[in-house]
Amino acid sequence: LSVPYPHNEPVLSYAPGSPERSKIKDALAELKSKQVEVPLIIGGKEVRTGDLAKIACPHDHSVTLGQYHKAGPKETQMAIDAAMAAKPAWEALRWEERAAIFLKAAELLAGPYRFLINAATMLNISKTPYQAEIDSACELIDFLRFNVYFAQQVYADQPLHSPPPIWNYVQHRPLEGFVFAIAPFNFTAIAGNLPTSPAIMGNTVVWKPASSAVYAPYYFMKLLQEAGLPDGVINFIPGSGANVGDTCLNSPDFAGIHFTGSTGVFQGMWKQIGSNIADNLYKSYPRIVGETGGKDFIFAHSSADVAPLATAIVRGAFEYQGQKCSAASRAYIPESLWEPVMAELTAQCSRIKMGDVTDFSTFFNAVIDRNAFKSITAYIDYAKESADAEIVIGGNYDDSKGFFIEPTVIVTTDPHFKTMEEEIFGPVITLYCYADADLDAALELCDTTSPYSLTGAVFAQDRVAVSKVMKKLENASGNFYINDKPTGAVVGQQPFGGARASGTNDKAGSKQNLMRWVSVRAIKENF
Ligand code: GLU
Repeated sequence: LSVPYPHNEPVLSYAPGSPERSKIKDALAELKSKQVEVPLIIGGKEVRTGDLAKIACPHDHSVTLGQYHKAGPKETQMAIDAAMAAKPAWEALRWEERAAIFLKAAELLAGPYRFLINAATMLNISKTPYQAEIDSACELIDFLRFNVYFAQQVYADQPLHSPPPIWNYVQHRPLEGFVFAIAPFNFTAIAGNLPTSPAIMGNTVVWKPASSAVYAPYYFMKLLQEAGLPDGVINFIPGSGANVGDTCLNSPDFAGIHFTGSTGVFQGMWKQIGSNIADNLYKSYPRIVGETGGKDFIFAHSSADVAPLATAIVRGAFEYQGQKCSAASRAYIPESLWEPVMAELTAQCSRIKMGDVTDFSTFFNAVIDRNAFKSITAYIDYAKESADAEIVIGGNYDDSKGFFIEPTVIVTTDPHFKTMEEEIFGPVITLYCYADADLDAALELCDTTSPYSLTGAVFAQDRVAVSKVMKKLENASGNFYINDKPTGAVVGQQPFGGARASGTNDKAGSKQNLMRWVSVRAIKENF
């Protein structure tokens, strides 16, 4: 049996008059016309706790999409028990039988669920139709199909030598316990990949979606059930980190985390796991797989083309309001290009249209919630008040209708200015101008200014300069782009993840990631 190499799901354009434009409009109207009540799904059954939270619409405070039930410690323990109960039957299936469910899920998402899940993503986390399409449709479909392809490679990976009369082989066992998947708000694709990639490898999962992004993951959970996922294999439990997280990490059945989110939360979990290991709570050392923050850079060399560089800054920093771990948030520009870059950047930013996601002409929308609004605007205010920085584009914000913050460009004379160093996770980029003769010093700054190492880009036409930057910044990012923006990794093309403070670099959508969800037993038989 062999799984054909999957192709990336084509991105629909949503152009005026296209069938997808009318389908997404219908889906948006339907979701806006009703109030959902999202239950937990534990062991395949709906569970209601009565502890309700709002499903919000960040770009329009007047819209509420419904409510979701929050899990407490009791329901979390129920989810762990359901995962453990489902485990023997799930791991006893042949891997092809498990894979078939995820391939069917990909078909359902490419077909009947596409517009529903895209619309839920648009409304609940304020993505434009295009940003929703590349995320909750294409990337999630790609994760499902490519992970099946990679799973086949993992299982096919066998020892090379069995000198007679010996037979050597390895068994790729699932982990001995449940996997805890903790999702971020910003990508429905990531939220969907975190539980499904361990599940493909025979693990059962407790899945906590982000509190501000429960809507699309809920429909994805229903899709998985429709695809034939057995009860209890993935258990969907929104809830607080304290309730769900502590109960999972302090369970003797805990075997691993698959996490995307903030660096602080990841470090806290790692410490908690470490202290539980010291107390001999777990059967094995848990697998800790995480993708966290970034302070992603664009480094321009004097040989760079100005227009594509400015476009990369705009798209890299401001698409989805900069709420990507990969978003460009600091740029190093040589003095010789400073004026043309600023002119082009100002021209491009003046054309950015901000507004409701359901208006098909907007590029830019609201940030996720009040906490994000407060923390991003605090950085903007800090820059406004500082003598070492100036806001040259944007800088205004208004939360009266939704959580809107203008695309903001800060220029600083201090390469260690706070907004050059700290992750903001919003539509703010800081530019630093370096003297062309100080290229080496500027590269050193780029490498050492932040603790992160997720994405980065170089812009240069001079090939020698490209090589030099690539070498010097070798450890400054897990994904490196030459003459392109540092966002938008595509499954099967640029495996995604970072090192240093940005995570364990177990690339999402890769054979390497799937290897983390198996524990290999090497078997030698002597005839
Ligand atoms: N994979 C996404 C990209 O390449 C970013 C994921 C994230 O924000 O965590 O842009």
